Amino acid sequence: MEKKDYYDILGLDHSATKEDIKKAYRKLALKYHPDKNKEKGAEEKFKEISEAYAVLYDDEKRKMYDQYGHAGIDQQYTTEDIFRTTDFGDIFRGMGFDFDDIFEQFFGRRTGFIHHRPRAQRGNDIRYDIQISLEDAYQGVETELEVPRTELCDICRGTGARPGTNPKRCPTCSGSGQMQVSRRTAFGMFTQISECSKCHGQGTIIEDPCPSCRGHGTVQKTRKIEIRIPKGIDDGAHLRLAGQGEHSRGATQSGDLYVVVHMKQHPVFERRGADLYRKFAISFPHAALGATFFVETLHGREKLKIPEGTENGTLLKLKGSGMPKIHGSGYGDLYVLVEVITPKKLSRRARLLLEELSRELED
Ligand SMILES: [Zn+2]
Ligand SMILES: [Zn+2]
Repeated sequence: MEKKDYYDILGLDHSATKEDIKKAYRKLALKYHPDKNKEKGAEEKFKEISEAYAVLYDDEKRKMYDQYGHAGIDQQYTTEDIFRTTDFGDIFRGMGFDFDDIFEQFFGRRTGFIHHRPRAQRGNDIRYDIQISLEDAYQGVETELEVPRTELCDICRGTGARPGTNPKRCPTCSGSGQMQVSRRTAFGMFTQISECSKCHGQGTIIEDPCPSCRGHGTVQKTRKIEIRIPKGIDDGAHLRLAGQGEHSRGATQSGDLYVVVHMKQHPVFERRGADLYRKFAISFPHAALGATFFVETLHGREKLKIPEGTENGTLLKLKGSGMPKIHGSGYGDLYVLVEVITPKKLSRRARLLLEELSRELED
């Protein structure tokens, strides 16, 4: 089933402010809240408006949605994630509802306090550039990337110490990772705090290093990662795969993988947003008399009617034969640029006919 547009769900347009979004949601939530509305389908409706609110009210998610549509959101978040990372408490307190009850109803368990997760120390993000064809962008495609990245060593689980041993507390800095150096100068005593030179700021020392990572706690691996490219994607789009980036020693979570999409040039079609352009050559009798042709589009052959008296350079539109729109629904259009070809070589008969035509047109 096609997912509905979040803006449509809340009855808003794309220019809506955060205040508009909150207002629209509050109004609909009062109407569909399961405590108030016992009609069939009210609970589903309530979940739908809550999800739309949770995405559009969050700047980062809204930006992602505006750019990539549902695909951009679905790639990164489950519905549960979307709810979990949104603070509904504020909006519900004003209405006299308890959000935890609702959450439990939707997802089947109590979660306690709903809040943004704190930003933990993360590994580096990775950028990966891919080239895709226009056909792939038209249909959407699933593909596998081979991504070289730094991962936590799974032999020592990132500690860097041989399994069965543990890193020792650094005796030089007593585990703080810092050293205080006091110097006496002409101006008095100066105390400088710097990174411990023995443990390099780690606070621990590995006496017996892990044989797999030689004490680094991390290893280089090339991973196959599956990615879904949503249909309608355009050149320069970034797809974020949360947690598929690098890990580093001391980090509590992996960075993200950003896949940057580049479009290959197509021999026939030129793309401008959701619209496509192509050329189509016809003879001048066809231009003068009108004719019907079949032209290749990205979804098969399509009938193109050349009206009588068509001039060279006329742009004809095949509605809906362009690219799928990345958010919302529907397709762009295909514009066909008509090129009227003047013959370079004429048979005797063609020459006679043209001479006759020429005389006819002069009269
Ligand atoms: Zn190791
Ligand atoms: Zn130290």
